[in-house]
Amino acid sequence: MGAQKFESIDLQGKVALVVGATSGIGWAVASALSGAGASVAVAGRRADRLAELAASLSGPVLPVELDVTDADSVEAAVAATVAEFGHLDVLINNAGVMYIGGVLGGDTAEWERMIRTNLLGNMLVVRAALPHLLSARGTIVQTSSTSGRLSTAGSGAYSATKAGVNAFSEALRQEVTGAGVRVVVIEPGYVTTELVDHITDPAMRAMAAEMQETMTTLQPGDVAAAVLFAVAQPQHVSVSELLIRPTDQLQ
Ligand code: NDP
Repeated sequence: MGAQKFESIDLQGKVALVVGATSGIGWAVASALSGAGASVAVAGRRADRLAELAASLSGPVLPVELDVTDADSVEAAVAATVAEFGHLDVLINNAGVMYIGGVLGGDTAEWERMIRTNLLGNMLVVRAALPHLLSARGTIVQTSSTSGRLSTAGSGAYSATKAGVNAFSEALRQEVTGAGVRVVVIEPGYVTTELVDHITDPAMRAMAAEMQETMTTLQPGDVAAAVLFAVAQPQHVSVSELLIRPTDQLQ
């Protein structure tokens, strides 16, 4: 998706940190924020992807290696962003993994990785960035999922992490909204990204592939447009939740 689409939105002077920027939704959001004029720190584990993304952006950009399961790494990434750009206005808290499968015989290592990444990692990122976002009266965009609202067979552990993100985000919103910090929960349905590539359960892989073939799925840029809509609202307008599905997705 071209960044031109966002030229009507002006985020000049704003600084954003996009966590989970190396592919999919995060990559598209980082491109969109940069296209709208923001300075962008892009973070994730894959340094080669960060360099590739940084090279594709024309505005100020800082690639930062970051593993959200490591609290020190999270603190360092936030510090590097503020050291480079002076402040932090927008946090896109988007890192996530999805290993779907049944509860019976469920892979506990996968459950733990999802909880550490999607839920605890998300919380660590908020904790580290919050002082700067309070100073800037900034915006926190929390990537949840339709799975955070509607749990279905096979998605129990993943849904639990996203329901956790929703719960954490609402408490966070109540804590900081009086100080002018906006908390936006984005809940996408099926988006074509690398997320499903990591599913190990053969039946679940087949189900994901079938969904992909039988529906016109969202593209990362569709979600980026929703994120930009929320971020670009006037300061007194807080878009607390945005649920965005492919039109032909039932649940
Ligand atoms: P991708 O797999 O394309 O992107 C996932 C991103 O998360 C990558 O940038 C990855 O970077 C990053 N990430 C994963 N683990 C870590 C970690 N330990 N530390 C830092 N970064 C990490 O998938 P999506 O773009 O689809 O996913 C983005 C978010 O959107 C996730 O939270 C996902 O749950 C959510 N979502 C996705 C939907 C979909 O249908 N695709 C629907 C609803 C929500 P790297 O590997 O380089 O570290």
